[in-house]
Amino acid sequence: MTSKGPHRATPTITAMNQKPDLHGKRGADLLHDPLLNKGTAFTEAERDALGLRGLVPPHVATLEAQVARVLETCRRKPTDLEKYIYLVSLQERNETLFYRLVTDHVAEMMPLIYTPTVGLACQRYALIFRRPRGLFLSLRYRGSLKQVLQNWPHRDVRMIVVTDGERILGLGDLGSNGMGIPVGKLSLYTACAGVAPDQCLPVMLDVGTDNAAFLKDPHYIGTARPRERGPAYDALIAEFVDAVQEVFPRACIQFEDFGNSNAFRLLRQYRDKLCTFNDDIQGTAAVTLAGIYSALRLTKGKLADQRFLFLGAGEAGIGIGELIVEALKSEGIAEKAARRQCWYVDSKGLVVASRTDLAEHKKLFAHDQPGCTTLLEAVEALKPTMLIGVSGMPATFTEPIVRLMGKLNTNPVIFALSNPTSKAECTAEQAYTWTDGRAVFASGSPFPDCTLNGRTFKPGQGNNSYIFPGVGLGVIVSQSRRVTDEMFFVAAKVLASLVTEQDLATGRIFPELQRIREVSAAIAVAVAKVAYARKLTPKPCPDDLPARVQAEMYDPTYRSYV
Ligand code: NAD
Repeated sequence: MTSKGPHRATPTITAMNQKPDLHGKRGADLLHDPLLNKGTAFTEAERDALGLRGLVPPHVATLEAQVARVLETCRRKPTDLEKYIYLVSLQERNETLFYRLVTDHVAEMMPLIYTPTVGLACQRYALIFRRPRGLFLSLRYRGSLKQVLQNWPHRDVRMIVVTDGERILGLGDLGSNGMGIPVGKLSLYTACAGVAPDQCLPVMLDVGTDNAAFLKDPHYIGTARPRERGPAYDALIAEFVDAVQEVFPRACIQFEDFGNSNAFRLLRQYRDKLCTFNDDIQGTAAVTLAGIYSALRLTKGKLADQRFLFLGAGEAGIGIGELIVEALKSEGIAEKAARRQCWYVDSKGLVVASRTDLAEHKKLFAHDQPGCTTLLEAVEALKPTMLIGVSGMPATFTEPIVRLMGKLNTNPVIFALSNPTSKAECTAEQAYTWTDGRAVFASGSPFPDCTLNGRTFKPGQGNNSYIFPGVGLGVIVSQSRRVTDEMFFVAAKVLASLVTEQDLATGRIFPELQRIREVSAAIAVAVAKVAYARKLTPKPCPDDLPARVQAEMYDPTYRSYV
């Protein structure tokens, strides 16, 4: 078994028969520790031995009964935001129960603890804020970030999700209110891939905000100053990265929801120096590539014959394009030709070589071609087989555009990936209706099933949660020093391989969310194999790698304390 840090309170399955270390806690202290608390499930023997008599109601519940109760309570809340608040407070009280609930009801819970509800939660974070979770690293703490990291109560941190709040989902700059994102993403690491809760650290870099409403809001939880964009910003990031290496040397750092001017350059700057990745760029790319592979099973097409048109040339769009290029190269297509299969429309029109206003990350996809100003013109000119929306601009896949895609293709592939739901380029119903049910559709946030002419479609959700938890778990298990594009490529292939014929028959191009732990485990094995094969870890590949991965996965169950 891999060694665990001294503060570990959540043993892995292999250690289930051992008694967890209670750190001398008893009575109310035990009830107030969310990693140890069992609430009404403390047994009579535990209540006697640990000074709990009278502190919990007399009835002794099972974990299953507790899950049924909290599920019912959650369902009775009138709005999704109320459900979010309830779930966060459950997590703050009893993490085992929270993760059992989320793991057993992942399809119902994921949209509540992550997109779309987390978007609204971040917008209202100041008003729903109860207990702090994660670390807030303010610009004001420059010079002492190491000490601040040492304030975190757990020592064996393996996964850090960090944001500066500049581009939260498709909602723009939410400053420190964006903390809901690292908190939610790390909950998914635990629920979807069994990364233990005390190995996860959410971090908010409080560098100001350009959100005018927040700057005036007396309840704003961050530092109310304009966003830092100068050398002090880079110095804070550099100090943070160095401090992490010292305080949590085994941690992987996932950059999340940074504005694209920082996201691309920070990835470039650190990807070969640290164990780090950017989920918005690389995770999105992998889940979308998996969706493309599945879509090709439905359209009976070949990757080499596709023409991709993206609306939006930011982190998601360029990340996907770069991974498509890698996938095409793996099929023997030259890089230049592969790039010519990917086209972009941004806020100024078609990305073409003659434009002089292009940001660096777009230039490799700027082809020689007359410009177009609208998406409709671009679809007419380029005749794409796949249309991918990553613009954050709702209702931009209009009826004429979707109908034209349907005219150009027997089965047009239409991915409206912008989050949250309110930002999707079109709805599932629109995509199916405007193509007479011929579209292969996926979205970023979930859409309900849709019935057209007696046929029920189950729209796929191109949810990054299919990818990043498994990648993180693979990196943790192998102790890889780097996270590489090859890892995302193999993750995409594994994910696509797990889509069944039954999934495809209902139009679903991703596996059912209920299978997420199986998906994550399979991805973790593939990612760890890359780490071993590329010598990114000093460890040799164990013979029983799949079993090692399983053994590493935290399983939310109660263990006996007496
Ligand atoms: P980004 O800010 O990096 O990029 C947005 C891009 O859209 C920019 O290139 C911008 O020029 C372009 N754009 C803005 N307005 C436009 C318009 N009117 N017409 C055409 N293009 C326009 O953001 P991002 O990280 O790339 O994310 C974009 C969207 O994709 C967000 O809504 C995000 O939630 C979503 N997303 C979805 C998934 C997923 O489904 N798995 C993953 C990541 C991001």
